[in-house]
Amino acid sequence: MSRPWRVAILLVLLVVIVLAILFFARTREPSPVADHFAALRQEMVRADIQGRGVHDESVVRAMRTVPRHEFVLPEYSDQAYVDFPLSIGYGQTISAPSIVAVMTELLEIERDSKVLEIGTGSAYQAAILAELTDHVYSVEIVEPLCQAAKKRLLRLGYANVVVDCRDGYYGWEEHAPYDAIIVTCAPDHIPQPLINQLADGGRMVIPVGPPGFYQVLWRVERHGEEITSERLMGVGFVPLTGGH
Ligand code: SAH
Repeated sequence: MSRPWRVAILLVLLVVIVLAILFFARTREPSPVADHFAALRQEMVRADIQGRGVHDESVVRAMRTVPRHEFVLPEYSDQAYVDFPLSIGYGQTISAPSIVAVMTELLEIERDSKVLEIGTGSAYQAAILAELTDHVYSVEIVEPLCQAAKKRLLRLGYANVVVDCRDGYYGWEEHAPYDAIIVTCAPDHIPQPLINQLADGGRMVIPVGPPGFYQVLWRVERHGEEITSERLMGVGFVPLTGGH
């Protein structure tokens, strides 16, 4: 090959490399909007999560990571990092971040824990759980919310959450037993099928009480056939519905 040709090929290669570097540098740069939400999220975690006594490192890390603004209706995205429940349509709500963090910490999830959530809703709580373990199952009774949650989790890269549209009063027998069960809607009694699906040493966190009022958050533990339950605090959740 003659010298001018070699020089020309080298020049073309050089231009391609420079363009590639410029392209990747551009796509990696976080957008100002993402930056804005990330800053609000870090501040929320400091004030409303750590500030209210949640100190488990893995839970704090999960709360810092999951983009809550992606789980609320677009018209509420500017309120996504205020410690407040928000409407997600169909009369349902995404819980306040602090209660999500408190309930998650109470579950004592380890990397290999198998977790069941009753009430997928927006899938925010499911995403928090998915930051802690690869084995998350979540069920939702309202079909459109359930379908939207599946799509959202896939879009955001949470492929380790398995969502099913069903009545969570009966749990999800197929994948039982669970090391942890979290119920994010309130029944007026603790469903026996959920106790049956707890593993030996398993923990369940569940609000119990009459619909439309404040309920009591309980932490239930199973050791063999022995069930212990501890009354924790007053909470406000939407009712657990269904035909049981
Ligand atoms: N964990 C959700 C909170 C959603 S609110 C989040 O992070 O957004 C509670 C959800 O429980 C609602 O979506 C409601 O439709 C659902 N739900 C109520 N009764 C249910 C039942 N029997 N089985 C499964 N889901 C139920």
